[in-house]
Amino acid sequence: MPVTQIPLDSSLEQENVTLLIGKNVVLKLIEDQESKSLLNDQHVQKFLATEDLAFRDFRKTMDKIMELETKTFLEPTREMREIFIIRRIMSRRKRMPKNLIALIKSRSRKIYKDFLEVSKNMLELEKKLKKINSEVEVLNPITLSACPACKIPFYHERSGKMEFLLGDYKEALRCPTCDTLVNRDDVERINIVKVIPSIEKVWKRNLWFEEYMASIVRSLEGWRTWTSVYVLGMSGVLHEVDVLAIKDGYVLIGECKTGKVKREDVFTFWTKVSDVKSHISLFASISELPETETRGFLQKNPSVTLLEKVGELRKSEILQKMREGVIRRI
Ligand SMILES: [Zn+2]
Repeated sequence: MPVTQIPLDSSLEQENVTLLIGKNVVLKLIEDQESKSLLNDQHVQKFLATEDLAFRDFRKTMDKIMELETKTFLEPTREMREIFIIRRIMSRRKRMPKNLIALIKSRSRKIYKDFLEVSKNMLELEKKLKKINSEVEVLNPITLSACPACKIPFYHERSGKMEFLLGDYKEALRCPTCDTLVNRDDVERINIVKVIPSIEKVWKRNLWFEEYMASIVRSLEGWRTWTSVYVLGMSGVLHEVDVLAIKDGYVLIGECKTGKVKREDVFTFWTKVSDVKSHISLFASISELPETETRGFLQKNPSVTLLEKVGELRKSEILQKMREGVIRRI
């Protein structure tokens, strides 16, 4: 028997909707296209194939890499910020006075040294990751261009913040610090490393943890999973769901938390679980729940599997704990 589709409005065409229809389940979901393409990225796939991805050795090393990345590219050093501020203050004047350029030039050695030092540290940390998963690659070599006259790396301003010009470019550039017109061939190049953009996004958005938990659910027999989707609840509200899993018409909703879990998080999660009418659910947190009350709420509920301190667990241990939960009955 074919399925008769009766669209009540234009939402089906507009929203990139997926309808899941089974013997005793109907779900409308919208996949997050960006998350989907990130999860298909080859660097991300190798990264996510790490067996003990959430375990402290890997996770903390990755956190340190991200911290260095932020410090270098999003929170530039004091010296660079000074130059940026001086330049902003003087923005009406075309050229910087010579004595100021001399002062800036004397700072540039420290700026170069900092960049190279950070890159070295990041590469060391990547080696640590490779000891855990030899396939993993999180850094890309990248060139930072600097002005041959004042020796300060090129940057531009974006929403009031300093952003470095990365990679190569075709035409002559005007130095934002000393206003010299610099030909492509005369540019000073500093070879550094930067986190691969897709890896950075997957890490910052916690997509890595969602997909990791989804992969563990998939390793139990018969489950199909979706990561980072919007699911329509009975109330007509779309809920952001970290992990949706289905087996034999049973629906599982999973919430994955890498940061500190707040009381509201648990209740928002519970709203999704009831509104989507999921049969069982999973609440996974990298750290410990801070409140005994919310822990009690989740523990007392037989349809919830609570996984705390996942950041201290290897994959086999997570799998073991999951099997001890309600999921084993399905
Ligand atoms: Zn310059």
